Amino acid sequence: MNSIGSWFRQLAFRLRLSLSHFMAGRYGNDKLNIAILCAGLFLSLLSTWMKKPIVNLLLVLLSYGLMIWAISRTLSRNTYRRYQENRRFLQLINRVKDRHNCYFDCPKCRQTVRVPRGKGKISITCPRCHERFVKKT
Ligand SMILES: [Zn+2]
Repeated sequence: MNSIGSWFRQLAFRLRLSLSHFMAGRYGNDKLNIAILCAGLFLSLLSTWMKKPIVNLLLVLLSYGLMIWAISRTLSRNTYRRYQENRRFLQLINRVKDRHNCYFDCPKCRQTVRVPRGKGKISITCPRCHERFVKKT
């Protein structure tokens, strides 16, 4: 009994070691991956309720595509790019969640400017290039 337990522990250790060796230099998981996987799972569940076979097939293919995308992001070695994608995704989520502010891009230098929401038509001065532009908030 003890030798089987020890054998199993050694196997688990070797598996963990080979997995960590395999994942070395690869990106791994992040919030964008979790969102992609959830969307894929949702589409897969939605496809089970669809009666039309063509819609069902499209949803299944789309859900598989999303899941393959998430796996390829996890195994990617281009970590800088994956990090940038995740950063942009989190930025977008934060902007959608933020109910007190509006976000605009400066037409001259593309700097993002945050202004309070619900102030009507206001003149915005870019903090970087001092370009003035009018937006409705
Ligand atoms: Zn600017």
